[in-house]
Amino acid sequence: MDQATVVCVRLRPSSSKETGVRCIRPEGEQDVTFTNPDRSLSSYGYDKVYGEDSTQADVFKDCQRIVSSVLNGYNGTILAYGQTGSGKTHTLIGSISSPELQGIVPRAVQALGEGIAADTSGAEYEVRLSVVETYCERIRDLLDPSRDNLQVMQSPTGAIFVDGALEAQVGSEEQLVQVMHTGLAARTVAATCMNEASSRSHCIVTVTVEKCCPDGSVLVGKLKMVDLAGSERQDKTQAAGQTLVEGSQINKSLSALANVIYALTDTGGCDGAEGGSSSHPAKHVPYRDSKLTRILQDSLGGTSRTMLIICCSPCAENGPETLSSLRFGTRARGIKNKVTVNTRLSPELLQQQLAKANARIKELEKQ
Ligand code: ADP
Ligand code: MG
Repeated sequence: MDQATVVCVRLRPSSSKETGVRCIRPEGEQDVTFTNPDRSLSSYGYDKVYGEDSTQADVFKDCQRIVSSVLNGYNGTILAYGQTGSGKTHTLIGSISSPELQGIVPRAVQALGEGIAADTSGAEYEVRLSVVETYCERIRDLLDPSRDNLQVMQSPTGAIFVDGALEAQVGSEEQLVQVMHTGLAARTVAATCMNEASSRSHCIVTVTVEKCCPDGSVLVGKLKMVDLAGSERQDKTQAAGQTLVEGSQINKSLSALANVIYALTDTGGCDGAEGGSSSHPAKHVPYRDSKLTRILQDSLGGTSRTMLIICCSPCAENGPETLSSLRFGTRARGIKNKVTVNTRLSPELLQQQLAKANARIKELEKQ
């Protein structure tokens, strides 16, 4: 089933330091009005717009469908995009210790735990969690930092995974939350003048749920939640030295992301496979240009249900970055995914099927 990427915009409230003019306002539930520097107005439409007073629960409500379908073997991806300080980490992670301020990741982890506990079908579940960051085109495991410079691989069934990343098997909801905390605490941060604790990495939390159904089939759903690095142009952060090098690498992966989105939404669309076949001529989608886009290959033009949250500062001073984020979101709305369930046979059922096939072959040989 073809499904467009859901694109939402979230405006954060002004901080106490931001007393100046605003450049963006919500208009109803799906539009924002942006005030250009010449005071003309432009309107942009999305699947949902969360105003400054939206709560973490409001945002999570719209993620619930993606999260719950992971329990039935579908892949889901939730991405937060925007300049540093626009509210990405608040939206995805939030304050873990305050239930009201918890972001999407802890709420999703909790919802998955509750969904499993409520299942009375006799299915058995295995839940695994991994937390990695890509930083200067290196993938590092945040659950085991000794696992550095990891590579992205594709399984014969087409699943994308980070080879060698620790997948912590978690037996309880508490354990799931604990492992998540460990990973998130290890993120690389460097101070820049835009935000003291600006995160310079892309952080990817993946929860894999394997559901062994009583009929012997196994459904495998993966939920990826991605806190992207700041999308601002690097000259605005006035970063220098090491941070300058980091900045160019970070921009490289975000421009690769923009190029992938561009290729996927360019006239005629694409079937999502790299050079795959469709009624349109095969189109090259440059997933391999960065680690980030490779990890997201399945989420952008692939088989995942995907939601992109564009985070925006309300302040006119950040207007050019906000406008660029709004345009990025508008473009991403055109990405279509072919959402499919991931199913396979359990080893026992596979054995049974093989035994049946062998018996049939023997019978045929006798004839
Ligand atoms: P980013 O991850 O994009 O750099 P943060 O999530 O760290 O930005 O947000 C910057 C600051 O703004 C933080 O202090 C955060 O708590 C606050 N903030 C962001 N979004 C909201 C929101 N919707 N409501 C209240 N405070 C917010
Ligand atoms: Mg952040």
